[in-house]
Amino acid sequence: MLAGGPAATGSVDRGSSLAPDVAVVGGGPIGWAVAWRCATRGLRVAVHDPAPGSGASHVAAGMLAPVAEAYFGERELTGLLTESAGRWPGFAAELGEAVGSDIGYRTEGTLMVGLTADDLAQTRRLWAYQQELGLPVTPLRPSQLREREPALAPRIRGGALAATDHQVDPRRLVPALRLAAERAGARLVAEPVRRLSEVTAAVTVVAAGCGTAALTGLPVRPVKGQVLRLRAPDGGPPGFRHVIRGYADGEQVYLVPRDSGEVVVGATVEERSDLEVSAGAVLRLLRAAVDLLPEIAEYDLVETRAGLRPGTPDNAPILGPLPGHPGVLVAAGHHRHGIVLAPVTADLITDLVTGVGSPDPLLAPFRPDRFVGPAGVGSATRPNFRLSTEDDSWN
Ligand SMILES: Cc1cc2nc3c(=O)[nH]c(=O)nc-3n(C[C@H](O)[C@H](O)[C@H](O)COP(=O)(O)OP(=O)(O)OC[C@H]3O[C@@H](n4cnc5c(N)ncnc54)[C@H](O)[C@@H]3O)c2cc1C
Repeated sequence: MLAGGPAATGSVDRGSSLAPDVAVVGGGPIGWAVAWRCATRGLRVAVHDPAPGSGASHVAAGMLAPVAEAYFGERELTGLLTESAGRWPGFAAELGEAVGSDIGYRTEGTLMVGLTADDLAQTRRLWAYQQELGLPVTPLRPSQLREREPALAPRIRGGALAATDHQVDPRRLVPALRLAAERAGARLVAEPVRRLSEVTAAVTVVAAGCGTAALTGLPVRPVKGQVLRLRAPDGGPPGFRHVIRGYADGEQVYLVPRDSGEVVVGATVEERSDLEVSAGAVLRLLRAAVDLLPEIAEYDLVETRAGLRPGTPDNAPILGPLPGHPGVLVAAGHHRHGIVLAPVTADLITDLVTGVGSPDPLLAPFRPDRFVGPAGVGSATRPNFRLSTEDDSWN
C-alpha cells in the first residue's frame, strides 16, 4: 500500500508530517504484532487503544494448537494455523531478543485424553481426522499417558500426543509485543476510535477484536468464554508439564500449566456478550478438570473471568483490504486463535501495508470481501456458515 500497491492512498511525507504512516486500531496481540512488524520496517506507527491488552487476550489460555484444534470443515483455517504455528519459534526468539523478557513460550506438547470410553471415542474421532490431514498425532495407551504425566487420573481410558502443539502466556506476550513495537518507534494513542474517518494515516489497520464490527460493518461477533486460574500450592510449579485437553463425562476442558505455578482451566463457548462468571460454568470446568487431574483439587482458585472472542460466521479471521475503503486493512475476527495466528497475521498484513510483492496466496480464503454481498459489507456469509458449538471447540 505505502509503496504504491493497488490500494495506495498517496505518498507519505516522512520529513515534515507528524501523521503516522500506519494507524493501528486496537492494541491486542494482533494490533501490537502488526505495529511491531511495521515499525521494524521503518514505518511510523500509531496504535490507538484506550486500554491496550484488555481484550480477549487478557483471558486467553495461549495454546498454540493447530493440531488439536484442527476441526471438521475448517481445512483452510487449519492450514493458516499450521503456517503460523511454524513461525512461532522464530517469532518468540526475535521477540525475546527485542525485549529481553520471558513470554512463557513452552514446547512440551499437548495430550488429548478421554476419561470414559465415550469420551475416548469422541477424542479419537477428532484425532483420526487430524491424522487424515497428515498432522502429527501419536495415539497413546493409558500407561503411556501416565508415563508422560503421572498426575493424570488412573481412570483415563486413552489419548494422543500432539507434540508440536505448544503454548505461550498471553499476559506476558502482549506487553512484550507492545514494548518491542515501542522500542522500534511505534507510539500509543490511548483513545478509542469511534469512526475510521477520525484516523489520519496513509494506511489504517483495524485490529480491534470485537470492536471491529462497529468500525467496519464486518460480521465480527462476541463469543463468550469463561476460564479459571488456579495456582499450585506452596508457590511451586504445577505437577504436570503438558497442556492437557480432553473430555470428562462428555464435558470438554483444557488445563494449561505455566512455570509460574499458574494453571489456566477453560473454557466455555457461549453465544453471549456479557462478562459475568456463572457458578454453573465454574462447577462444570472444575469438575471436568479434577476428573482428569485429581491433584488440582488441592490448588488455590485465584481467578474466575470471562472474555469475548472475536468470532466470525466461518470461524476464520478476516485479513486484507476493506472493500469500499481505500487505505483500510482489516486484521480481525481471530476468534479462538488470535494468539497462535499473531505471527502470520503480522507478516501478511505488514506485506500488504508495504506493498511488497503481490498479495500472499495464503490470504485468499480470509479476505474481507467474502462477507460483502450485493448490499455491501456484512450482507453476505459464505455457504459454510457455522456457529461455534460446544461440540467442537475448546478455547
Ligand atoms: C476464554 C478464551 C480463551 C482463548 N484461548 C486462546 C488460545 O488458547 N489460543 C489462541 O490462539 N487464542 C485464544 N483465544 C482467542 C484470543 O484471545 C483472541 O483471538 C485474540 O485475543 C484476538 O486478538 P485481537 O488483538 O484481535 O483482539 P483482542 O485481544 O480482543 O484485543 C482488541 C483490542 O482492541 C481494542 N479496541 C476495541 N475497539 C476499539 C476501538 N474502537 N478503538 C480503539 N481500540 C479498540 C480493545 O481495547 C483491545 O485492547 C481465547 C479467547 C478467550 C476469550
